[in-house]
Amino acid sequence: MPLQSLTSLFDAASCGRYALGYFEAWDASSLEAVLAAAEAENAPVILGFGCMMLDRAWLDAGGVEMLGALGLSVAARARVPVALILNEAQTVDQAYRAMDAGFNVIMVDTSAWDTPRAIAAVAELTRAAHARGVAVEAELGRLPDAVEHGIDGSQAALTDPDQAAAFVAATGVDCLAVSIGNVHLLTNGYAPVDMAHLERIYARARAPLVIHGGTSFPPAQVPRAIAAGVLKFNVGTILKKVYLEGLRASLQALPPSPNVHDLMGSHKATDLMRAGQARMTDKVRELIRLYRCQ
Ligand code: 13P
Repeated sequence: MPLQSLTSLFDAASCGRYALGYFEAWDASSLEAVLAAAEAENAPVILGFGCMMLDRAWLDAGGVEMLGALGLSVAARARVPVALILNEAQTVDQAYRAMDAGFNVIMVDTSAWDTPRAIAAVAELTRAAHARGVAVEAELGRLPDAVEHGIDGSQAALTDPDQAAAFVAATGVDCLAVSIGNVHLLTNGYAPVDMAHLERIYARARAPLVIHGGTSFPPAQVPRAIAAGVLKFNVGTILKKVYLEGLRASLQALPPSPNVHDLMGSHKATDLMRAGQARMTDKVRELIRLYRCQ
């Protein structure tokens, strides 16, 4: 199935009163795990890769293009509607290259930029992207950081509802990621999200909203978030955690002299990565059901 526009996926989600999951992959194996989950649930999904943790030199030396080719080839065989995002590009140049590489949704991480600079760059990028049928996500406000023993809110800033409305109007972005107490990369526990603040943002901005930090977003608040305009949840950390647990279990079960060809890269049931993939697929299925409020 060809890539679907983000707008069409959002329209369907909005009518059906559910949200889409963007389950961040990092290679072919994890991307296939996401698609397997979406197909098993017969649900639309946003496939893609994030740049936040990646080496800039690798991305700039052809990594963006490699990820695009991988994403397109997996998306092409999808039996459910999918879009393909390059999330949190480190530079505007990476976002332009992502469009050339076939991504149909792009986002640049502007969290460290001042708002006027972000508005100018995102507005220009959005004009260029829309001319090519590519959607743009942006973020306003700054999420707290996850630190070893909890949450560091010292650099955080909640999204201001009036600024959110002005940002959407000035840039024309297709969706806006917001800061409402949600936390990126938290490995334990749930973030102290302010749902009334989310509702205030939506009342002013009236644009599709995105929650980053899906790993630690409290599941009990998902229906209220969807009612308050959230159409996309980004999930990363928990997927790597469960994948690694699967991988660890299969490594621990290895015989003393394993057949390396069966274990590495065979894509058979014996492939070491299969255990990681299976756990990731189960987790993505669970989250798709949560976001579809089933
Ligand atoms: P988590 O890793 O906290 O789930 O967040 C992922 C994310 O927001 C990617 O944009």
